[in-house]
Amino acid sequence: MIAKRTAIRLSDGRELIYFDETPDADRDGWPDTRHLPPPPPTSQLRYDPLVDEWVAVAAHRQTRTFLPPSDKCPLCPSTPDFASEIPAPDYGVVVFENQFPSFSDRIKADEITELTDLVPVRPGVGRCEVVCFTSDHNSSFGALTPERVRTVVDALADRTTEMSALPGVAQVFPFENRGIEIGVTLSHPHGQIYAYPMVPPHTQATLRAAQRHAELTGGRNLYSDVLEAEQKAQVRVVAANEHWTAYVPAASRWPFEIQLAPNRQVLDIPALTGAERDAFGPIYLDILRRFDALFDRPMPYISAWHQAVTGEGRELGYLHLQLFSVRRAADKLKYLAGSESAMGAFINDIVPETAAQLLRDAL
Ligand SMILES: [Zn+2]
Repeated sequence: MIAKRTAIRLSDGRELIYFDETPDADRDGWPDTRHLPPPPPTSQLRYDPLVDEWVAVAAHRQTRTFLPPSDKCPLCPSTPDFASEIPAPDYGVVVFENQFPSFSDRIKADEITELTDLVPVRPGVGRCEVVCFTSDHNSSFGALTPERVRTVVDALADRTTEMSALPGVAQVFPFENRGIEIGVTLSHPHGQIYAYPMVPPHTQATLRAAQRHAELTGGRNLYSDVLEAEQKAQVRVVAANEHWTAYVPAASRWPFEIQLAPNRQVLDIPALTGAERDAFGPIYLDILRRFDALFDRPMPYISAWHQAVTGEGRELGYLHLQLFSVRRAADKLKYLAGSESAMGAFINDIVPETAAQLLRDAL
């Protein structure tokens, strides 16, 4: 749980927030000693009329830090020899604005131009933050204590509330990429938070389905009904406790995929009760351990929090965490090739009921 929250500014004006579990942490005596250039010009959004989707173009991200040696890790605490992104000599959980953001709130939102009659371009207004889960470079989310997971959840709630209130933000998306197989460029345990200026394509699809279901059922929530059906069927449920249920989706796209959802409809992380936040850590850590135990090696994964949108369709939301891996066997990865990448049509090599059984038996 958060006992002390301290916000500071880095030398280029970006915000950094310490979330400490003890009230006596000293955070004020450690200014950023670097002389950083101003944050880069931000991205733009280009509209693709053929599929009715916006694409973010952020060329400055090409220069971002790529797999630095551990004594030059920008996410470790600063030392006398190396000034990292975090000025203090230690920390618990820390969040700061990404130095190489895909979206930024430092630019004017009103400059809409056109590349062609059919392709409007608008500024990539929004915000991108980095969340460090621990100061321990060689740790992982799965090695955190349940108490630390609670602090991370509280920090994500804090950031979701603030970023949802920014002008033009349509959805706030906390996520973690883990493992070089996923394309992680920094091995230090960390996640990210994107505040999108548009409703992303996946969320648009879920909103259409949820709206249709509500119309057909007199207002029932689609995700609630799916969860209830899975709880009844049990065959794909991997773990459960008083407040959360973890199950493999009946039509999962990935070899190993889990949805972890609260047992009651909650729109976003800030709306979770204290009891629900406390109950999240033990079940999520249990699932991460099962993932790592499957092939007896660290499992590359993507962990994605799906929260309600801030605007139209908000009431259709249902908070859940989606965890999936591209590893399908001890020495084999699933690549998104022709059918998935070009057509968006997933072919899953593992029967979801088999995946659920393997995960139940993994520990
Ligand atoms: Zn590090």
